[in-house]
Amino acid sequence: MKIVVLKFGGTSVGSIERIKKISKIILSYVKKKYKVIVVSSAMSGVTNDLLNKSKKISKVFSSIEHDVLVSAGEQISCALIAGSLNDLGYKSRSWLGWQIPILTIGEYSQSRIFKIKTSEIIKYLKLGGIPVITGFQGLNSENRVTTLGRGGSDASAIMCAKFFKAEKCVIYTDVDGVYTTDPKTYKKAKKIKVISYEEMLEMASLGSKVMQPASIQDARLNRINIDVKSSFLKKEGTLITKRKNIRSNKVIRGISFTKSDAKLTLIGVKDKPGVAASIFEPLSKNLINVDMVVQNISANGKETDLTFTIKYDDLNKTQSLIKKNKKIKFRNIIIDKNVSKLSIIGVGMITTPGVTYRMFQALADKKINILVISTSEIKISVLINKNNLKKAVAALHKEFKLEK
Ligand code: ASP
Ligand code: MG
Repeated sequence: MKIVVLKFGGTSVGSIERIKKISKIILSYVKKKYKVIVVSSAMSGVTNDLLNKSKKISKVFSSIEHDVLVSAGEQISCALIAGSLNDLGYKSRSWLGWQIPILTIGEYSQSRIFKIKTSEIIKYLKLGGIPVITGFQGLNSENRVTTLGRGGSDASAIMCAKFFKAEKCVIYTDVDGVYTTDPKTYKKAKKIKVISYEEMLEMASLGSKVMQPASIQDARLNRINIDVKSSFLKKEGTLITKRKNIRSNKVIRGISFTKSDAKLTLIGVKDKPGVAASIFEPLSKNLINVDMVVQNISANGKETDLTFTIKYDDLNKTQSLIKKNKKIKFRNIIIDKNVSKLSIIGVGMITTPGVTYRMFQALADKKINILVISTSEIKISVLINKNNLKKAVAALHKEFKLEK
């Protein structure tokens, strides 16, 4: 059986008209003799709306009910898609996560799929039906509904491709692929034809919003090729695949950035074992994600300065947690609310010397000051003032010849 998994994102099913439109896309695969499995996200705005309702009911809305509630959007879109296909004369039905079932492990609101039972869907495919599966949701060992984290229907599609041994997994979205950088920030951004899992994972985690980072990890572990395409435009998209399949001499594949980070520096922290842990313990308990961390070498052996970044939205909470923290002493705290993390990503940097220098020089030429630096094998990130972001993206895009 030649199976294809087609996943549609929120805007692709955002209205009745859009649902009718994507029904035609689905049928174009049926006509090419594919057995099609559809995975859909909720209509755009619906998940947020449900989430807001929960917040109005209670500040401590139970995480179990949270998952039942926010997964409801997918039920609506999938029924409508199946209904639309029926209307066009095709055999189709919706499947909720628990009906298949799609089995998950982990915490509510951020579960991961570990198994999908395939027998019923396979039977249905053999009978010529088009199953429409709810993305984003599953069932845990307590027999309760779970969800996979925001944007989690990407993970549903990828795991369906794995368990149904699909030939292809196509992610239909509102952009026509993955770009070298955000085209809204830099007009000369170019569509990337092929990108490795590793690069895509870094780009998604570092601020490029095309796909859910956890889902790319699932694809990487299971070697699922992903096509990212627009459901609005008939254009070639981006292929996400393993490094071996990519022949290209690009050192840097793309540039990602975050727009709203905050930087905190604790001046005059005691330089002794356990201090950093005491600073970050309450933050981690409160689910505040600490990103870049730098500790200066202490000049006198007694005190040091510690700098770290967080999401701007977490700033108030972080400040009050630090204030309340009796375990740490420091002389002063400096806060910068206006920073962006800018990253260049590419597996080519493993084998190409001088990339760091080129990045720093290109920024220096534009008189852009670097506040914090962090690197991994395939990315270099710098923290800069947010006002310099556009200028910096343009400079790096040119330096690494991403226009070509
Ligand atoms: N509807 C869910 C969300 O908005 C899942 C998804 O869109 O992938 O996060
Ligand atoms: Mg989405």
